[in-house]
Amino acid sequence: MDGSKINDKNVTEERLLSQGYRKYTGEGLDIYYSKDICAHIGNCVFGNPDVFEVGRRPWIITDNGSVEENIRVINTCPSGALKYIRKDGK
Ligand code: SF4
Repeated sequence: MDGSKINDKNVTEERLLSQGYRKYTGEGLDIYYSKDICAHIGNCVFGNPDVFEVGRRPWIITDNGSVEENIRVINTCPSGALKYIRKDGK
């Protein structure tokens, strides 16, 4: 799943926040997460436990992973609970 899109459209922060996603700010990219959509399958935690760690607060620390690595892991999320917006406009 492409974490930069919803229904083939680029996500916007406004849309994600209005849909109940929480924002986890990073330097090169922001991660957004919806606990209501999360299917608790754990691909994110297996993908990079430095960034995604259940039980830690905050449970997502965006800058513990590089932009490209975070995108790779976010795109393995099968439910759409994880989204991202790059800050370099790519
Ligand atoms: S990969 Fe997506 S659905 Fe699975 S636990 Fe992480 S956020 Fe939830």
